[in-house]
Formats: sequence, C-alpha cells, structure tokens
Amino acid sequence: MRRVVLLGGGYVTLHAYGAIVRRLRGPLRRGELELVVVSADTVHNFHGFTGEVVAGLLPIGLTQTPLTEAMPRARVLHARVTRVDLTTRTVHYSTSDGADGDDELAYDALVVGTGAREPLDAVDGLAGRGLTLRGPGDLAELLQRVRVVDGPVVVVGGGLAGVELSAALAARVPHVVLVQSADRVVPALHAEQPRLAARCATELARLGVDVRTGVRVVSARDGSVTLSDGSVLGTHVVLATTGQSAVVLPGLERLPRDERGRLVTTRELLVAPDVWSAGDAASVAHPRSGTPVTANALWAIKAGDQVGRNVARALTGRPGRRFRYLGLGQAASFGVGRGVADLYGVPLTGWLAWAMRVGFFLRFMPTRSRAVQVPGELLRRARRAEPVRPRVAVAP
Ligand SMILES: Cc1cc2nc3c(=O)[nH]c(=O)nc-3n(C[C@H](O)[C@H](O)[C@H](O)COP(=O)(O)OP(=O)(O)OC[C@H]3O[C@@H](n4cnc5c(N)ncnc54)[C@H](O)[C@@H]3O)c2cc1C
Repeated sequence: MRRVVLLGGGYVTLHAYGAIVRRLRGPLRRGELELVVVSADTVHNFHGFTGEVVAGLLPIGLTQTPLTEAMPRARVLHARVTRVDLTTRTVHYSTSDGADGDDELAYDALVVGTGAREPLDAVDGLAGRGLTLRGPGDLAELLQRVRVVDGPVVVVGGGLAGVELSAALAARVPHVVLVQSADRVVPALHAEQPRLAARCATELARLGVDVRTGVRVVSARDGSVTLSDGSVLGTHVVLATTGQSAVVLPGLERLPRDERGRLVTTRELLVAPDVWSAGDAASVAHPRSGTPVTANALWAIKAGDQVGRNVARALTGRPGRRFRYLGLGQAASFGVGRGVADLYGVPLTGWLAWAMRVGFFLRFMPTRSRAVQVPGELLRRARRAEPVRPRVAVAP
C-alpha cells in the first residue's frame, strides 16, 4: 500500500485531498492507497467568514468543519508535526497529549500545508497577549473576551484583513482602534484600486472605527499598548493582523525559502522529491508575472488543487503539470449588503460586491450542508442585529 501524508488541516490539504480522491478512487477503494492528514487542529477553519462570525452574523460552528467530516476518506491524526525526515521519508509527530512521545509515519508523497502565523514576536510583549484568529480557539477566545471585557479593542495592521475585522468588531463593541503603520489603510489595494481603498476608509468612518495611521504598536502590556508616537491605549483585547511568517517545520529548514520563511516551489509545486507545498507555507510563482502569489485562501485553494492533481499523477507514474491559475481578485465586507470587490481588475461596491464575495465563499466551503445554511443565517441575523452606537473617536 502507498501512503500520501498531508500536513495541516487548512485549505491546501482540503483541496489536495479532494483532487487526489477524484483521481484515485479505485486504488483508495481497493486499499492500495492510504491518505493520512496530520493536523494540529481538529477542524478546518473557514477564515473567509471570520468577519461575519465576529460581527455576530454567523454562528462560529458554521465556519469550523471537523476534518473527519470534510475528508471522510482520510485517516485524520490530531497531532503536531515535530519533524520531517527527507532521507528516510518519514513524518514525526506528537499527539495532542504528548504523553507517548513522538510517533512516526512513512510517506510515498508528502503535502506541506502547514500555513503561516502572525509574527507576534516582532512587537515587544505582543506574544501571549495578541490574538491572531488563525486557529479555531483564537476566534472563540476573541468572542469571549469582547463579551466580558470593557474598553476598546485594538486591531494592529490596516491591510484588508485588519480593516474587515475592525468593521466587524464595530458591530459588537463601541470603541475599536485600528493602528496602521503606513500612512493609509489598505495601501496595497490603494495601489491597484484607489476607489475601492477610499471606500474602505469611508466604511470605517461610517462605523466609527478610530483609525490611527502612521503609527506602530511598539509594545504591549497587560491592559495597554504603547504606540510609536508615545500614546498609550488602555485595552485588554489586541488583535494582530500584522502579516505572516510561514510555519517552519524542523527537517525542512534547509530547503530553499524566501525572506518570509516560505518554501520556494517549482512551477509544479514541488519543494523536494515527492514533497509538494502551497498556500501560506509556500512561495508559489504567479504563472505570468513570476512574482509570488498573494498569501490568501484563493491561492491556497487553487494551488492545493494542483498539488493534489500532481500527487495523483506522480503516483500513477506521470510527470507533474505546471501551476497555471491566473487569479480572480479580492474582496472585503462591511456588513450585509456592503462590500468592495476587485474582480479581474473591475472595481465593484455595495450589494453586488457583497453578494459576489459571499457566493464565492459558499462555493468553497468544505461541506454543502454548512454552505446552504449561510445565506439564511446572514439575512436572519442581520435583520435582528441591534446597531452599536460608536464612541466618538478621541485624540490620544
Ligand atoms: C482572520 C483571517 C481572515 C482571513 N480572511 C480571508 C479572506 O477573507 N479571503 C482570503 O482569501 N483569505 C483570507 N485569509 C487568509 C487565508 O485564510 C489563508 O491564506 C489560508 O488559510 C491559507 O491556507 P493554508 O492551507 O496554507 O493554511 P491554513 O488554512 O492556515 O492551515 C494550516 C494548517 O496547518 C496546521 N498546522 C500548522 N502547524 C502544524 C504542525 N506543526 N503540525 C500539524 N499541523 C500544523 C494548522 O493547524 C492548520 O490546520 C484570512 C486569514 C485569517 C487569519
């Protein structure tokens, strides 16, 4: 029997799994092939609807799918990968309790989809105090904290994720402070679509988000953060959306990496013989421009599909194919019926942008049963939602 081991329970793994299952049904049925998922989380976390969950427009359970349900033909190990040995072709892992020490698993093909983490260490005191919303526990903790803790919520980082989360938080708490080191929010979007970037700023103002541009958070302490202009914000909830650095698995450190620690892939998404990677863990070249594709769910999904196809080809003795996906665009939501979207370079706003974004996410949710519940929940909860009166922004 041959074994494909998929590391992580995110978009890359889910889509590589799907592509392999569609192509190798016979070998899987006959027991000639085994798929094993090793993931530190027991659920797939659908990050796309994080804003809706934060705003109270969706229940958290709809965005978290047990891996055993999303990938029924795989053996799922709830464990942390501790090392990959490329020479003996084994993955070492430790189960959640860690009681029995490390176990190991041999692979014929390996998919590295372990994603990235926000580099909290880059800010003094932020590690251990800042939330990142990457793992399923983070989101539950944020919801719990905003329920019980008084005072402002500070969001660090004014990219699209930080802006969307600030807007979502403004539906729950009266004072949200968004701290952005650049002189404007969503600078990357501004460079491509200035009208959409301006709309993001307008939406934040409408929602009463207290935006501080041109300043950085320099330190975090229990109950406060200090900004580079010397001001101190009293807060017990700090959310970091400050970019990413790839999860570096021991044993893979020597493979070619870029400055963000991402594994540099070939055009066929290989990083070593019989080892593929994609998503936030990898630096994947755009097929046309050759520059690394953006670290977001769309690219993780599409490259994950290609990884799965190439694994299936390798297992049936055929060479891998190049990653050819060219992209689609980006989108953000500011509440039901309010959104911005860049679709193939065409700027869209309002209901159209919002509906397009939701439609896209629904198509990629891990199970149909969850996807069909989303539109009804969104509209029902939006009708019920009480507007939060924003606190007037005060200068420090
Ligand atoms: C709050 C938030 C909102 C976002 N919103 C959007 C959006 O609206 N649109 C969009 O396109 N993108 C969005 N993104 C980005 C998108 O979610 C990521 O680009 C995408 O998740 C990358 O997929 P991945 O499979 O590479 O990694 P992930 O989905 O992060 O999965 C990584 C997996 O690896 C596991 N793992 C890590 N280390 C280990 C280990 N040592 N052992 C075992 N398992 C391990 C983790 O538990 C996890 O299951 C958002 C991200 C966040 C955090």
